[in-house]
Amino acid sequence: MALAEYFDRAAQAAAHAIAGFDPGAFRDTLERAHVGVTFGAQAATRAEGRALLDLTVRLLARLYPSVRIATDSRGGLDADLAATAREINPRIDISEGEVSHVIVVGDDAPRVGRVAFFVGSEQWQFGFSAATPISVGRSPNPIGAGGAACLGAANLFRSIVQPTPQLDRDLRVSVAELLAGAGVVPDLRDVRDDGRTALAGLGAIGNGVVWTLARTPLEATLHTVDAQVHELSNLQRYVLPRVADVGKAKVDLAREHLAAGAGRITCVPHRMRWGAFVNAEGFTWDRVLVALDSAHDRRLLQSSLPRWIANGWTQVGDLGVSTHRFDGSGPCLICLYLEHGQVMSEDEQVVRAFGLSVDDPHLKLVRDLLYRGAPPPRTLLEEISHARSVDMTLLEPYAERPLRALYVDGVCGGGVISLSQQATPGRDAHVPLAHQSALAGIFIAAAYLLDVLGIRRDTRQLLHLNPMRRFPDEPVREFTKDARCVCNDEAFVGAYRAKYPPRA
Ligand SMILES: [Zn+2]
Repeated sequence: MALAEYFDRAAQAAAHAIAGFDPGAFRDTLERAHVGVTFGAQAATRAEGRALLDLTVRLLARLYPSVRIATDSRGGLDADLAATAREINPRIDISEGEVSHVIVVGDDAPRVGRVAFFVGSEQWQFGFSAATPISVGRSPNPIGAGGAACLGAANLFRSIVQPTPQLDRDLRVSVAELLAGAGVVPDLRDVRDDGRTALAGLGAIGNGVVWTLARTPLEATLHTVDAQVHELSNLQRYVLPRVADVGKAKVDLAREHLAAGAGRITCVPHRMRWGAFVNAEGFTWDRVLVALDSAHDRRLLQSSLPRWIANGWTQVGDLGVSTHRFDGSGPCLICLYLEHGQVMSEDEQVVRAFGLSVDDPHLKLVRDLLYRGAPPPRTLLEEISHARSVDMTLLEPYAERPLRALYVDGVCGGGVISLSQQATPGRDAHVPLAHQSALAGIFIAAAYLLDVLGIRRDTRQLLHLNPMRRFPDEPVREFTKDARCVCNDEAFVGAYRAKYPPRA
């Protein structure tokens, strides 16, 4: 039994996710955890159950050295899941041994393990409970199942690594309701997208989009755009690749996965960046699913003026999805990612990273200090010291230096906030956990399917949550256009409207 060979990357991701991170202790914690997944005939024979199990195993096998797969159903699904786990981590132990934490899928699963997390789904709805089994639905819709897998993996992770775990209470959440309003339960059968649709980016989030779409009955042509090949370090946080896929172009693996899926999606791979893609294939796109990882690339993509955009993101303590129409009442994608913008701002990331509450006084103070390159006042250092349980003597050297230095050294660089050198991420690198990125991808896919079904959501709202905390009561947040953005300019809006005249 051993941790995956790409484990160090997992340690980086966890470094961001857990305050006071110690990679040695993290390694020990994972090696002590004997996690499992258990299911009965219900999950084994229903599409939602099989999707939920598939994603659960894909998530667990990347992080834990020992994953038991227990079932009383016949049909060999347990052997298939074990094979998937071994392809992801050839060193994994899939034994019959004792299990400390188990994810229970469906309401007829045999019980193993001391700590159980029950997950289930019904179409767009995912369910979680720490007390009661939950059934899985028969629909061909993988959204609820995918969400349940991520929520199960998130609770399992928090229960293992957090000293006082933030576990979800009994939860039933409809992704369709979150994205499109109460009472919406659209049927996915016979769903067809006749438009020009592209998926930009096949990183961790894009993998989540592909996993989801491959399991829907959607009929569509999907252009996938990504220039890179899979590296070993990707395996920690991507849901699709196996060790054998290292070196393969990301667009090729996505095409294989979509071809093997349940749907009728014709995948057209483009191994290039977005700019080259639109130069070659044209600038008129009805829907673009944005799974890019930099603000710059997102602004560039929006400036090519697609008709509709679903954008997903992960950052420290946050994941989410937003949708955009350039001439809508809500912000465009550039608004969202303008420097010092209102939502994805660096100030908010910094405030979160220091463990401070994200409120106006903190945001204003941090924004001002970052902008002026000024050092933090002593009161702010004391707050950080308290919030992060860091000794004040370690922070004092930063009283004379710009606040950014404390952020770069202390949070990103392995200084005062107890990251060892071994787990030092690159300065801008944020390596999210697999379940965090997967959930962002599932949300993008859900927003896309709803738009294809003609169920439009208000583009002034975005959906986001912190994967290290309980599922929020109000994950939907309002936001507005940025007055400095080009989407306020009549010339740009006119060009957009000329490109996409209202349909008859
Ligand atoms: Zn804008």
